[in-house]
Amino acid sequence: MSAALAETPVTDLKGVGTALALKLERLSIHTLQDLLFHLPLRYQDRTRIVPIGSLRPGDECVIEGEIKLADVKQGKRRSLLCRIQDGTGSLTLRFFHFNAAQKNSLKPGLRIRCFGEARPGAAGLEMVHPEYNKVSGDFVPVAENLTPVYPATEGLHQTRLRSLASQALSRLDSQGLQELMPDNVRQQWQLPELNEAIRYLHNPPADVDQHLLLDGKHPAQRRLAFEELLAHHFSLLKLRDKTREQGAPVLRPSGELSQPFLNALPFPLTGAQQRVSAEVAKDLNSPYPMLRLVQGDVGSGKTVVAALAALQAVESGLQAAVMAPTEILAEQHFNNFSAWLEPLGIKVAWLAGKLKGKQRQSQLDAIRSGEARIVVGTHALFQEEVVFDDLGLVVVDEQHRFGVHQRLSLREKGRNGELSPHQLIMTATPIPRTLTMSAYADLDCSIIDELPPGRTPVATVVIGDERRQQVIERVRAACNDGRQVYWVCTLIEESEALQCQAAEVTAEQLAEALPELRIGLVHGRMKPAEKAEVMGQFKAAELDLLVATTVIEVGVDVPNASVMIIENPERLGLAQLHQLRGRVGRGSVESFCVLMYHAPLSKQGRERLAVMRDTTDGFKIAEKDLELRGPGEVLGTRQTGMMQFKIADLQRDADLLSRVKHVAGQMQGYPQHVEPMIRRWLGVGEEYGNV
Ligand code: ADP
Ligand code: MG
Repeated sequence: MSAALAETPVTDLKGVGTALALKLERLSIHTLQDLLFHLPLRYQDRTRIVPIGSLRPGDECVIEGEIKLADVKQGKRRSLLCRIQDGTGSLTLRFFHFNAAQKNSLKPGLRIRCFGEARPGAAGLEMVHPEYNKVSGDFVPVAENLTPVYPATEGLHQTRLRSLASQALSRLDSQGLQELMPDNVRQQWQLPELNEAIRYLHNPPADVDQHLLLDGKHPAQRRLAFEELLAHHFSLLKLRDKTREQGAPVLRPSGELSQPFLNALPFPLTGAQQRVSAEVAKDLNSPYPMLRLVQGDVGSGKTVVAALAALQAVESGLQAAVMAPTEILAEQHFNNFSAWLEPLGIKVAWLAGKLKGKQRQSQLDAIRSGEARIVVGTHALFQEEVVFDDLGLVVVDEQHRFGVHQRLSLREKGRNGELSPHQLIMTATPIPRTLTMSAYADLDCSIIDELPPGRTPVATVVIGDERRQQVIERVRAACNDGRQVYWVCTLIEESEALQCQAAEVTAEQLAEALPELRIGLVHGRMKPAEKAEVMGQFKAAELDLLVATTVIEVGVDVPNASVMIIENPERLGLAQLHQLRGRVGRGSVESFCVLMYHAPLSKQGRERLAVMRDTTDGFKIAEKDLELRGPGEVLGTRQTGMMQFKIADLQRDADLLSRVKHVAGQMQGYPQHVEPMIRRWLGVGEEYGNV
């Protein structure tokens, strides 16, 4: 028996040697199956001969006619021109490159058939370098099906790709790929059979709805995309099952620490905080590692939920680690946790990349000995030198910036013999539901869908920077009113250095324009101590105006700050703008956010700023962001690594995603199909090999 198509290398085909195989590799094509999944981008219609008289500019088609005139023209570029006619009209063929033989054969009186694109030329329509054949007396048939145009690469062109695809297709005819979707599922969702779908997409019949195909909405395309999404979903579930197989320490809540903590808080928990905390507490109190994603809009009070979880670990005699993506955020958590928990006699350690020497060593010692019960830090917590005494829980704040792989390595990090720590992941950037299902299917999800009482929504205005002076006056008035103001300078071409420089310049200009105000500056290039000092002054209301780069994006909490100016908001994604804006509106006074754009705005730019103006609901904003920018941008680059789809497109196929979970359930009766499906679409343990 011949090997399965998934295991047959392309070199098995006629005429494919190492050189060609290398080129195919550039298209991620290694096997015959890869070749079959390498679908056309679009199609050419060579199934009929189009009357020349009916051609429009841009038409790509077959024409046939008699050469009436052939001439070499010497203009700016020497070219061979042939005028051909078919009784309905005439058209010029133009060749910039031609040899003597060509010139001699293209003579008046000859009938030829051409394929090319009709473009407007000097004298009516022309085709530049069309493909052509002489037509002799006999009947020459046109193509039966549409001709595929594949994604290509340098040195590997359509003719070659077509012939490889057709070889692969004939192997498909004789061997076939295993159908992994059960009949009843396919019938219910009206999905064609796998082999049939593949065959169809490589050579669709002439009467197919081409628009449907171009939009990727044809049932045959959806059939493949759907299976791929399903495979990704299964792979995440598998990952989750694997984790579940490991044990975790049971963290019993005694209330010994959490009760005094809650009593000392100046506010009661919101209903949503209580509900989510209870979900977390229940997970922690089980012998399987918790993997829970807590989503809550900015300001919804996630930190308290994290603290309660950490206390449950400490109550059970274990350590908890709290990790944040930026130093500013980590510092803020450290300050919060210290202030809340040290009065209860709990030592909180601090670890960041910039912490050096003796200070670092003393923190590491405290973590290793177990003297520190809670450790707060940046991803420095990943480092090898960090050894925990007995880690029971890892909290990752703003998970958004960490991908599946980081999730995994952190899980490994805290591994203690047979036991894995529980994991709580928190994000303030709501993730559209569809993406949660594909990118986070290995996690359980809780949503804090309620803000603490007494908040007033932020009023947002969108104005052009030609009105900067007016904005400055508004800042003056607000500060005279006792408000505090953020002035945010956004990223310039990804360069942190330039961004910091821009913030420095802006701070100087504002100091000149507003001499009576106390103005501070924070940016990413300052030392942590300097940043902390400025933030501290702002928090203590010793500064009126804080000029900042987007370092203040996540988590920074100054309730009295009620106005935010964002310069060039068009440079940022919606999620990031939402994060920034979340810094204001934390107190009870009405807050404002001014989005000061630089004209002209693109259509999409206008649309995005309008979304910001019209809604403050993070989930709605996230859905809109997904729609406008696509999943790669929304999830961040780290995430997209694992989101490389061959055929599916999360945006286009969003409606399929909502069915994936359901069908995954239906497939429970076919466990033997799951593993092959994962292998077909994700390869063998490539993605998650380190688990
Ligand atoms: P986020 O979810 O954005 O991380 P934080 O945890 O930073 O939000 O909380 C935002 C602010 O709300 C903090 O000042 C916090 O003390 C306060 N807060 C949290 N929970 C409540 C509550 N239940 N009632 C009133 N204020 C709260
Ligand atoms: Mg937070």
